[in-house]
Order: sequence, then C-alpha cells, then structure tokens
Amino acid sequence: MYDRESHYIGGRWVRAAKSDRLVVHNPADEAVLGHVPAGTPDEAALAVAAAVRAFDDWASRSVAERSEVIRRFTACLKGRAALLAKTITEEVGSPASFSARVQVGLPLLTFDSQPTHASEIVWHQRVGHSMVLREAAGVVVAITPWNYPLHQIAAKIAPALMVGCTVILKPSELAPFNAYLLAEAADEAELPDGVLNVVFGTGAGVGSSLVAHPDVDVVSFTGSNETGRIVSELASRSVKQVHLELGGKSPNVVLDDADLEQCVAEGVARSMVNSGQTCTSLSRLLVPKRLLSQAEEIAASAVANHPLVDPSAEVEGIRPTVYSDKLAHLPTTFALGPLVSANQRERVVDFIRRGVHDGARLVAGGPQRPSGFDQGYYVLPTIFSNTTPDMSIVREEIFGPVLCLQAYDGSDDSAVTMANETPYGLAAAVRSKDPERALAVARRIRAGQVEINQARFNPFAPFGGFKQSGHGRELGTWGLEAFLQTKSIQLPPSGS
Ligand code: ADP
Repeated sequence: MYDRESHYIGGRWVRAAKSDRLVVHNPADEAVLGHVPAGTPDEAALAVAAAVRAFDDWASRSVAERSEVIRRFTACLKGRAALLAKTITEEVGSPASFSARVQVGLPLLTFDSQPTHASEIVWHQRVGHSMVLREAAGVVVAITPWNYPLHQIAAKIAPALMVGCTVILKPSELAPFNAYLLAEAADEAELPDGVLNVVFGTGAGVGSSLVAHPDVDVVSFTGSNETGRIVSELASRSVKQVHLELGGKSPNVVLDDADLEQCVAEGVARSMVNSGQTCTSLSRLLVPKRLLSQAEEIAASAVANHPLVDPSAEVEGIRPTVYSDKLAHLPTTFALGPLVSANQRERVVDFIRRGVHDGARLVAGGPQRPSGFDQGYYVLPTIFSNTTPDMSIVREEIFGPVLCLQAYDGSDDSAVTMANETPYGLAAAVRSKDPERALAVARRIRAGQVEINQARFNPFAPFGGFKQSGHGRELGTWGLEAFLQTKSIQLPPSGS
C-alpha cells in the first residue's frame, strides 16, 4: 500500500525528507484532496542513482522477459482502473465517463500494446560487414503535466520500460495521486527495484534537478512552451536527448463544400474536449467568409451540447473500459467539468476579457462565473467571432473552453495560409465533402497530426509536433524508437 508521505525509489516507499507538503485540490469544489511531498534535489539524486543501478540488468534482459513484466504491470493497472478513473476525476475535474473511457482507457491500451510494438522493432540487422543494434538509450526522466495525467505518463514510461530504459517519473504536482496508484501497481507487479522510480514535487524543487542530472540520458517532457524551453536548455548542458511535447493552436478548416451544420457542431465539440485543456484542441475554426454568420448561429446553439457538470456526479454505473476501435471518435454532445485550478481559471478568464477588449465579438459564453456554479473552477464554453490574426485569443494557446471563429476568403490557398499562420504545429483538421480535396489541403498543413472529416484519434499512430509544438514522437512503434540508441559493430573479415 502506498504512503502519501513518500516517494517510490529503488523499489520501495521512501519517506520524504522535508516536512513541506504540496496541497492538491478538487477543482469541482475547491476542497483539499490531500498532500504530496515537495521533493528535493537530494531525493532526485537518490532516484537517479537507483535508476542507474537498475539499468544494466534491465537493458540486458530479452524482449520476451521485459514483455512479461510489462504484462504483469498492465494487469495490476487494470485492477486499479476504477480507482484510477475516480482519482483523475477528483484531481483533474474530468467528468467520470471521460475519465473512465479516455483518461484511463487510453493509457491501458498504450501499456497493452507495448509487447506488440516491441516485436515490430528491428533489433539487429546486418549492413555489409556491420552488425547494427538497437539498444536502450539509458536512464530516462519523464516530466508530465496534469491534463491527461496517466495518458502522458503511459506514453513515456511504457515504451521506455519496454525497450530496456530505466525511468524516473516526476508527475504534475496538480494531479499526482494517479501516479501513486501507478507506482503501487509497479510494486505489486514486482518490477525489478529501481526500474521505475516516482518522485513527487514541483518543477523548480525537483524537476530541474532531474533534468540537469549528469547521469540521465534522455528527458521526455510534456507541458507548456515556457517550461519546455527551460527544460531543453537545462538538458542540453549535458547533451541529453530531449523530447518535447508542447502546446498548440490548432486549426479546424471547414472547406466551402462541407456540411456546415455538422462541421461547426463537431468543431465546437472538438474545441471543448476536457474543457479545452487538451494540447491538440482544435481551438480555431476556419470558415469561408460568406458562411461566417451562418457558422456563428450554429456555434451559438451548439454550446448547449456542452453543459457544465459536477464531474463526479455521473460516477455510478460507469465502468472503465479499455479504449478500443469499437469506441468511435468522441461524441459531439458531452458535459464539461471545471478547469484544473484557480490559476488556470484566472488565466482563461483573462484571455476572454482580452478578447473582448481587443474587439472580438462573443457569440457564446464570456468571462462571468457560470450561474449555479459558485464554487469550483468553472468557465462557460465561450465562442468568439470577428477575430483578427493579431489578437492574443487567436495567437496564443488558451487551454480552456474557448473557440475562435476565423473567416478566410473562401479559397483553399487562403485556408492553408491561415491554418499555418501560427508558431505551433501540433494538430489540425480538414472538413470537406471531397476526401481527395481534404487530403490535398491536409498535406499542406504544417502539423504533426491532421484529421480528415470524422476520422478518429489513432492511439498507434505517431503523435508529436512541428514547429514550436515540440519534437520527437510518441505512441505506436515511434514511441519506442524515441528511447532507443543505434550501435554499429564492424565485424572483421572471416578468418581474421
Ligand atoms: P502545466 O502547468 O500545463 O502542467 P508546466 O509546463 O508548468 O505546464 O508543467 C509541466 C510539468 O513540468 C510539471 O510536472 C511541472 O512540475 C514540470 N516543471 C515545471 N517547471 C520545471 C522545470 N524548471 N524543470 C523541470 N520540470 C518542470
């Protein structure tokens, strides 16, 4: 059983040295959920030492042996699926059904799929007189955020462990309790000591010590662009491999032949997933100028598809399911929970105020506190029109339930120009009655993943950004590649 006064280091619960504790709140009612240790640089060093000690043995095991351990770990996680979903609903504020299906279902699928992905890697091959080997890259530090806390952990640690790396995880201080359950599952699955270590605390207190540690080989980070830059600079001092999964301001391009009603309603939904706290949120809806007023009307009525709810209220009767192909893309009607924290709410409301101040027009929502939600970090689903490309609501990632309508002149060329008019390049969507035309536009958008019409998220396809959305790819076999090194051994002529 885990102990919330401790870190998980070297295969045991290690009581935190400092008496400082970080408070974790339930965003739905602002109540204190509990505390976690504020880890220190010394504890970071202890965890790195444990991971270094465990590396040689773990990396030298066969893929079959490691697959067996990963399967045990996955089974122990599945045994905790309902508790994980409840925990994420409490600490992040995701509605219970979403927590079960996506917040927990998706990471379980990622864990489940590792042995298959490992079997697809070419571990050794001959190139002339050379033997080319793929080997574990070494000790990995995984730094993760709060919005899809377990998914982001799984996308890093499952492939890293699968290929033979040892890991130190520093989960978000806003949503850390799911990581306790994960460590508990690792312990029950009898992962060898030190193969997975979990250290709790803030970025400044413990994260930066991990990133800067000279014995760490790879840093895999998901979070904001500001922090990503700091992490990248720190890691580069000791020439570490760095993977960055950062923000986005993703365009949803409605071409002039698309079914406007369907595309706008879906567009509103795709900007509101997890209350807009999604790095791939399609937060800009691009429509031909002549259709803008019609799009505004549809968008204004589509917000009714997204009522605010107490995220725990629907807990009864919802069983976590393993996310599967049978579950199509997200529905267009779903409820929204609160934002994760008071700071996040303030930041989003500030963006909304700035949008109004800059001359954008509110089609729905606004900065006011939603009626009936006197407590909790709730924000109304908000839609802006009359936007211009220089406005902060159009340029910057808001990370809340805020959608900007943008009008382009109607040609595919101008749609592509507007779609690419951002320093980000994480995601995009293209909607058209003509899939060939949509594909042609999709190919011209500079983003790591582009969806066409109702195509659903593919958890085995590579995930990552172009431009300032980061570098490196997660998920599928690409997720494993990120933690591999390549070695060539030149063999002597036979008989020498
Ligand atoms: P968010 O607030 O969206 O989670 P952040 O980028 O601030 O985004 O945080 C993402 C993760 O990075 C968190 O686990 C956080 O503790 C960690 N972090 C923040 N600052 C640093 C830092 N200087 N070094 C390492 N990790 C950090």
